[in-house]
Amino acid sequence: MPLRIEDVHATEILDSRARPTLAVTLRTADAGTVRAAVPSGASTGSREAVELRDGDQRRYGGQGVRRAVAHVNGEIADALRGRTFRSTADLDAALIELDGTPTKSRLGANALVGVSIAAVRADAAARGQELWQRVAELSGAVPLLPVPHFNVVNGGVHAANNLDFQEFMLAPLGAAGLAEAVRAGAEVYARLKARLTAAGHSVGLGDEGGFAPAIDRPEEVLRLLVEAITDAGYSPGRDGISIALDPAASEFWSDGRYHVAGEDLTSDQLIDRYTEMADRFPVWSIEDGLAEVDWEGWERLTARLGERVQLVGDDIFVTNPAVIAEAVGRKVGNSALIKVNQVGTVTETLEAVRVCREAGYTQMVSHRSGETEDTFIADLVIGAGCGQLKSGAPARGERIAKYNRLIETADAHQALPFGLTPRG
Ligand code: PEP
Ligand code: MG
Repeated sequence: MPLRIEDVHATEILDSRARPTLAVTLRTADAGTVRAAVPSGASTGSREAVELRDGDQRRYGGQGVRRAVAHVNGEIADALRGRTFRSTADLDAALIELDGTPTKSRLGANALVGVSIAAVRADAAARGQELWQRVAELSGAVPLLPVPHFNVVNGGVHAANNLDFQEFMLAPLGAAGLAEAVRAGAEVYARLKARLTAAGHSVGLGDEGGFAPAIDRPEEVLRLLVEAITDAGYSPGRDGISIALDPAASEFWSDGRYHVAGEDLTSDQLIDRYTEMADRFPVWSIEDGLAEVDWEGWERLTARLGERVQLVGDDIFVTNPAVIAEAVGRKVGNSALIKVNQVGTVTETLEAVRVCREAGYTQMVSHRSGETEDTFIADLVIGAGCGQLKSGAPARGERIAKYNRLIETADAHQALPFGLTPRG
């Protein structure tokens, strides 16, 4: 079924950090009007597709997106209005060609991704399908409800504390189903709040809804998480609740050293530290354990821990199919984070997932630290069969919206399998 575009329009709205972003509405002949809102990161990889900001200090400290909005309402609308595309892949190709740069820096990846997501939504609606069903067809994957990864302690550039590691996530790998996994995350979150309060820590929240206590040693957070998991009546580990880390190490790497809790570590010393953490705590996954520039370190990290720990590339891979293919060739990591706005179109995102699948790399679909109420990533992760979603803590509306979309889809489609893979 072709996509007959009648009109496209963008508006400057706010994201969860009170920064401007885009909402895009797309009107098609067969689906009426659909909408998409664009997320935005803080700990970004240097090779990400370029998010266009106005730089006009008189508005939003230079963070405005009026130029990107004007590109949607001008050049992009002119190029799409009245046109028929055979597929969303064709529409994405037209967007890429119109932009004409390798990093989408001319029109802005934030402009392109809003249109791209809206187009998939229109495509699904025109066919009378759920969004995830259309994504499954586009990706050639078996639909799967993912294991949610709840970021319950925030640090790094997502919080104003002195914790260098950015994310500490609960991964209910042993849950029997999606609703039980969400319940486990919420129950441990509540027990963690009680533990932090009892210890005299602040329970103020970071950007992704996790607590942001004044703790600097990552091992101290891991100890608290294990206690909270146990308090809530779950077993720490793969049969119950495991822990996933996103140190986001590019953010504390400088001058060839990793600066963690007052120590200056070499790559090998940090790899030793991760190995100890995986020995002492139920850490099943580490994302961006080393910096995006430290490919040699990543090779050694993968050789050392790759058999027992999921090693996810985020800043280093930037959802870019070519970079992931290079990583596969160099045995760097064994998993990729999947963020639509890192690469700029849904078609390229699904290509990144395909490269992972063929190489045996796992995939974790991810929100951004700056989010909106848009739930596209919930349908993306189900349809592309990735098996893992991180959407922050089980708190804050923009995070919860994604988890609630998963819960409601699981309830409406009881036959959908749940887990890291279709067999769990
Ligand atoms: C991340 O680093 O995985 C993340 C979600 O943060 P941001 O959106 O700030 O890049
Ligand atoms: Mg990350």
